[in-house]
Amino acid sequence: MEDALHAHGLRITPQRVVVLEALRALSHPDAEAVLAYAQNRQAAMSVATVYNVLEKLRAAGLVIAMDVRGRRCFDIRTDSHDHVRCRHCGRVDDMVRHPGTRLIAPDQSPWVIDDQSLIWEGLCPACQGEAQHG
Ligand SMILES: [Zn+2]
Ligand SMILES: [Zn+2]
Repeated sequence: MEDALHAHGLRITPQRVVVLEALRALSHPDAEAVLAYAQNRQAAMSVATVYNVLEKLRAAGLVIAMDVRGRRCFDIRTDSHDHVRCRHCGRVDDMVRHPGTRLIAPDQSPWVIDDQSLIWEGLCPACQGEAQHG
């Protein structure tokens, strides 16, 4: 945790450490989930602090922010990858795409495309049971 901060030229503060812990422990949390995690760990943090720390980590390249159906989620994994979102509880996980499946942009697109990622939709394992019980 501290090493990651050092490697990105950031000073180590207890707030930054607990936010990084939250990002490793939770799967793609939003700021509220990070705050709840920090408060469970008895870290004295306000919402504003959580937002500031997340923004600092993002600017330093330690985490990426992504918009999932209007919710701003943070990801400790910064390489390009797909996600899957549970339509019942909103949980977001990493998704490994079947090897060899790449989307191909139309030849006539005026855009310069250099990356791609998908958000899959479905039911997470926990919600599959609930769905069966109504
Ligand atoms: Zn779910
Ligand atoms: Zn991810």
